[in-house]
Amino acid sequence: MQQKPRINIIGAGISGLCAGSYLQMNGFETHIFEKHSIPGGLCTSWDKGEFIIDGCAHWILGSDKGSGFYHMWSELLNLESIEFHHHEIRLSIELKNNVDKYGNKVFHMYNDLNRLRDYMLDLSPEDEKVINRFVQDIRAIQAFDLPPKMDKLPMIPSIVRGIKMSRYLKFLFILNKQRKVTNYDLAAKFKSPFLREAFELLYDGQKFKMLIFNFPQAVFDKKSAGYPIGGSLAWAQKLAEKYTSLGGTIHYNTPVHKILTENNQTTGLLVRNKVVHPCDAVLSTADWYKTVFEYLEGKYVNDKLLKLKDGKIMDVYYSILLVSFGLKKDYKEYPHFFRFPLDKKLESPCGTSWERLETHFYHYDPTLAPAGKTVMACSFYTTNGQYWIDLRKNDRVKYRETKAKFVNDLIDRLEVKYPGIREDIEVTDFATPATVLRYTNNWQGSAQGWLPGDNIIASSPVKFKLPGLKKFFYASHWGRPGGGIPVAINQGRDVAKLICKEFKKEFKTTKA
Ligand SMILES: Cc1cc2nc3c(=O)[nH]c(=O)nc-3n(C[C@H](O)[C@H](O)[C@H](O)COP(=O)(O)OP(=O)(O)OC[C@H]3O[C@@H](n4cnc5c(N)ncnc54)[C@H](O)[C@@H]3O)c2cc1C
Repeated sequence: MQQKPRINIIGAGISGLCAGSYLQMNGFETHIFEKHSIPGGLCTSWDKGEFIIDGCAHWILGSDKGSGFYHMWSELLNLESIEFHHHEIRLSIELKNNVDKYGNKVFHMYNDLNRLRDYMLDLSPEDEKVINRFVQDIRAIQAFDLPPKMDKLPMIPSIVRGIKMSRYLKFLFILNKQRKVTNYDLAAKFKSPFLREAFELLYDGQKFKMLIFNFPQAVFDKKSAGYPIGGSLAWAQKLAEKYTSLGGTIHYNTPVHKILTENNQTTGLLVRNKVVHPCDAVLSTADWYKTVFEYLEGKYVNDKLLKLKDGKIMDVYYSILLVSFGLKKDYKEYPHFFRFPLDKKLESPCGTSWERLETHFYHYDPTLAPAGKTVMACSFYTTNGQYWIDLRKNDRVKYRETKAKFVNDLIDRLEVKYPGIREDIEVTDFATPATVLRYTNNWQGSAQGWLPGDNIIASSPVKFKLPGLKKFFYASHWGRPGGGIPVAINQGRDVAKLICKEFKKEFKTTKA
């Protein structure tokens, strides 16, 4: 019997697990090398006392039957066995300066578009035109299934190809149009001061392209982006089970130090304890920077990759400070996702400060806390994750003290909104960008690879192949700005297709 080609994969994050499963389905022998003791990478959760702290998924694209992503996930998971929670309200925003006509200062962003439109019309009938336009823009995105199924496009010019192509171009046209409008542009159009302030505060006062808001809203209304009960690690573990059931092997606690090459072709991996694992090709799904500049020593680069390293092409996605609490009450009377102003701003020594706070109660997932209790998380975005990374590296005692002070300052502010919460805290957890780097190696502690910039439909310069290197492939959330779990499965599937092509195999999938 002919031997199966062997692919060594770096990383058991979502990209690596998905790519591994697709390759197993297509007659490859694959081995995943993972530095951590568990699968998932960034898509993870961890135990703290009797609570489970979730470090990732608030929603996963593809929870609605029939959509492109549902179809894709169904190749790897039995989605019917997973319970998805769909929030009634996406986000509640407390305003600082205005109240609605009923005297409320909280604006509710309903996920159901009709309900959202009726709610806004009730608050401000004189803004009917703007409200309808806002809803229509979101509905325009809904007309397209994502990702557009370009792989099914007939190659030979035909009427079908023409129709499909024109739909795709229309989609690009809509994206292009919406990416020019910011939340401030939209806010300025409302006559109602309440709606105006609410839209200015969509991102805590920051200016963002409306497309970044509209796309999730389009999928929430369709119930396409639910939260999987059980959380992030449970999701990753299901993918790992699928991979091993297909015959794949995961080597945990096995960091890769070098990608070995001969005559500009990969030959294997050098892992911990100087062990070499030979193979026919290498697929890295680990951090792009470490892959290109450490494991391959920067030997296979082009001008674009060098500029990327120097921050000249794209910005790295924010790092996150994630402070979570295990609470002895369930706090069900409070919205699950709430943003509100602070009397006194919260400052981080990394140079970032916040005048508003975001609380996220997980009371809708009973698997994360014992009955009657819940987990609450506050996340803070920073562009200076390096501060925390350096602090931990250079002064562990000061790192711990700084974390403790930040948490204490945070609880002081939470007390104002949730009186008595200090007493209800049973456990505290604080994951910094240093934590992200330590556990997953993601460059600068980034949470989602590259930040989508002004051109949010731009592709990433980190491609599936590196210049001048044969039998090497790369795929991860660094492959498309914005990252996220859907990008990871997409990357894993597409790179598996490319590997099949190079090994002259026809790509096929089976249903889970
Ligand atoms: C706080 C937070 C919230 C998020 N929320 C969401 C959300 O709601 N929805 C969503 O879609 N996405 C969300 N994301 C983003 C999402 O988690 C990531 O984009 C996605 O999981 C990336 O998967 P990946 O496999 O490409 O990369 P990674 O998860 O980084 O996987 C890479 C893997 O490679 C391993 N590795 C690295 N170096 C080596 C080495 N030398 N040797 C061996 N193994 C190595 C790492 O340990 C890791 O397991 C969130 C992320 C964070 C941090």
